[in-house]
Amino acid sequence: MGDHFRTVVDLDATPQQAARLAERAVRWLVAEGIVLAERTDCVLGPPLGHPPGPHWWRAVGAARTDREKPFDGLAVYAERTVFHGGQGEPEAVTCPRCRASTRLITDEWDPIDEVRALFGDAVGTGHRTGTEAAVACPACAREVPLTAWGWPDDHFAFGHLGLEFWNWPELTDGFRSRLSEVLDGHRTVRVRGKL
Ligand SMILES: [Zn+2]
Repeated sequence: MGDHFRTVVDLDATPQQAARLAERAVRWLVAEGIVLAERTDCVLGPPLGHPPGPHWWRAVGAARTDREKPFDGLAVYAERTVFHGGQGEPEAVTCPRCRASTRLITDEWDPIDEVRALFGDAVGTGHRTGTEAAVACPACAREVPLTAWGWPDDHFAFGHLGLEFWNWPELTDGFRSRLSEVLDGHRTVRVRGKL
């Protein structure tokens, strides 16, 4: 069994807000007993993360004794990041302007290189320059910012703040909405992935 992660991404946090909101979110998680304040080598990705706290189960909706406490913890990202599901290819993306769906792979699951290059370049450019890259919709030709495309199953999320739980069970919607409140009511999405 590989390692998996579940990330809650704040879609509204600006680069200026990210560090302050990340601190606030961690303070809240520590106060709830979901993670510990100390940082240890308990995550994949960044070198240090917050290990699970005594009430870690509050985030996953389990009863106290239901589940074994995960070994791994929480990685916090407070800079522009492309949060990626890690494994598998999205089949298609949806244009928010014309609702047309653009396929990224053929029915035989072969990648469609031109289309993938279009999106791949934009992801790379945005990552390097810290700007919001756009991709012209192949159907309606309008420029659509990467973040505005509809990605299946939240395959990608683009944001400045992400809280990534390593090898934890599914986070509940209730937990995510309480976390959103702590983040000034910002919109959040979940990205799941596996290494
Ligand atoms: Zn379109």
